[in-house]
Amino acid sequence: MSFVADIATKRDGGRLSRAAIARFVRGATDGGLPPEQLAAMLMAICIRGMDDDETSDLVAEMLHSGETWRLGDAAPGVVDKHSTGGVGDTVSLVLAPMLAAIGVPVAMMAGRGLGHSQGTLDKLAAIPGFDCERSRDEALELVEHCGAAIIAQTADVAPADRTLYALRDVTGTVPSLPLIVGSIMSKKLALGAGALVLDVKAGTGAFMKTTADAVRLGTSLRAAARAIGVACEALVTDMGEPLGAALGTACEVRAALEVLSGGGDARLRELSLRLSEEAAVLVGRDRGEARRELEAVLANGRALATWETIVRAHGGDPAPDRLARPRRRVEVAAAGAGFVAAVDGEALGWIAVDLGAGRRTRDEELAHGSGLVVRARIGDHIESGQPLADVLVGEREVDPEAIAARVRAAFTLGDESVEPRPLVLGTVDDLTAPD
Ligand code: URA
Repeated sequence: MSFVADIATKRDGGRLSRAAIARFVRGATDGGLPPEQLAAMLMAICIRGMDDDETSDLVAEMLHSGETWRLGDAAPGVVDKHSTGGVGDTVSLVLAPMLAAIGVPVAMMAGRGLGHSQGTLDKLAAIPGFDCERSRDEALELVEHCGAAIIAQTADVAPADRTLYALRDVTGTVPSLPLIVGSIMSKKLALGAGALVLDVKAGTGAFMKTTADAVRLGTSLRAAARAIGVACEALVTDMGEPLGAALGTACEVRAALEVLSGGGDARLRELSLRLSEEAAVLVGRDRGEARRELEAVLANGRALATWETIVRAHGGDPAPDRLARPRRRVEVAAAGAGFVAAVDGEALGWIAVDLGAGRRTRDEELAHGSGLVVRARIGDHIESGQPLADVLVGEREVDPEAIAARVRAAFTLGDESVEPRPLVLGTVDDLTAPD
């Protein structure tokens, strides 16, 4: 059967056979299918979806498109963490040193920004010298030497995802449950840590806007991990507004450093602690003790010292003053007064992308000095003229007035006081209604 016929099958709402999924994944891996056909299939899947069997066939084909590292065999007890994508989400940069500081080794395969969300790999690229391009042996050495390896997907690991991820980023095909499951799980299972904690985002800044969709995604991701013996928990967390205040690359590294220094944004700190605690529990630690140890390493400087060791081990310079700075900081003030009732996290993410924290085309350069700092949170009361956010204008030319108008439009002010949602909505089990 020709691939055009496979595309048409999915376009018309049909099921893809394992053979058709294999053709698609092979074509993405070896370049046998042109980008326009891959993009057409991605769009058809994005619109029509996939059933559970198609989704697990997609995960299996994508996983076996490349090498499987099985790091957990060589380094038992190593944990991995993954977020399904949001904004202001700098948790990975806080979690890795915190866990390493309490003796829980971490190996993470990080990605570039996707759609409106900023990627860990792009944030690490803001640190001079930080080198994420590592082989399996180098990743194991990093874990041994400093307790954490944060690495880029190599050409050999889930190569189908490398191609599809980059195409999805620029074709509006990111928010698709089967494509997200295929993308995340092919990498996670190929890396092969023994335990995996999943941060499944729900809300305006996430790919899954509703809690119900996030629960479906989390359940599907967790099932794929557990099916091959990986200890896995999936927490659904609030992305109804940016997690931390900073959206960008260098500015998010600074936000992580503030938390690692014992202060920082309260939401970013709390979610980093909660996900780290969950990871520690997955490898057999007592929850209460793990929490106390994690809080202690933030307070006593060990998490920060471990971060510096991790950065140096990856070839980077941990000095905060080496991070890019904005050329200009433009305060965006509220045009009226009221309670912050809603924040369009996706709109803020796209603004950060346009400023230079992400790519609008596949090979666009990032502008590390740029970003956004949110200054109004859901539930806050804002007077007219009070700041909603600061725009950090970096290396990319932008129209600050147009950006300011978009920032203002992302905040909805109302007359009634609003209670923010809890940061952690629950595990997927807590949120699954019994039949
Ligand atoms: N993270 C990934 O690695 N892939 C996705 O599709 C979404 C988030």
